[in-house]
Amino acid sequence: MMHPKKERTFVAVKPDGIQRGLVGEVIGRFEKVGLKLVAMKMLVVDDAHIEKHYTLDPEWRKVTGEKTIASYKAKGLTPPTEDPFVVTEALLQTLKKYMTSGPVIAMVWEGAHAAKIVKKITGGTEPLTSDVGTIRGDYVLDSYTMSDTDKRAVRNIVHCSGSLQEAEMEINHWFTSEEVINYRLVQEEILYDVNLDGILE
Ligand code: GDP
Ligand code: MG
Repeated sequence: MMHPKKERTFVAVKPDGIQRGLVGEVIGRFEKVGLKLVAMKMLVVDDAHIEKHYTLDPEWRKVTGEKTIASYKAKGLTPPTEDPFVVTEALLQTLKKYMTSGPVIAMVWEGAHAAKIVKKITGGTEPLTSDVGTIRGDYVLDSYTMSDTDKRAVRNIVHCSGSLQEAEMEINHWFTSEEVINYRLVQEEILYDVNLDGILE
């Protein structure tokens, strides 16, 4: 089994994150928790890249469609349709428009439990209900009510992989293997070294 400190996860600062001047803040939060930045680039992507990104998991259309329908019902609202695939097709159109509207910053972060830690710091998908202290909870005020009313994607500053399996697919989708750098960070000694020798003189 791979050591948990070797985990890697994918993060993207979305176009609104860049426009809001939050690139440094997002990077800073992942740096401060102890994660290592192992790949980063700014790029403008096209519709096909975004469609592929969201459908890397063949179950995404079904699962996200069902989740969205359930969230309408939980709020006492009638979903626009009962077909999860129709729901996600519409969602995909808005996501393409959002994610191709300006540059994004793609990154790979490495470290202990990287996928879970990054997901925790990023916060829940809908900023209205994301926990205080998370990036989405602290820096933006959007909601599904707002995005549905205006027929657009919810603006939530960052994307992060939902799981380790998702991370692997997303890293391969956004980066070549040469773009992900293997290197040592001095702080790894204090985070992971078993004996902590070599500190005292
Ligand atoms: P994420 O990984 O936290 O971004 O969330 P998901 O993978 O579950 O969903 C991907 C994207 O679909 C989100 O960023 C939202 O734009 C959109 N989305 C997911 N669930 C809902 C929902 O219940 N309502 C609406 N309007 N959009 C949703
Ligand atoms: Mg997701």
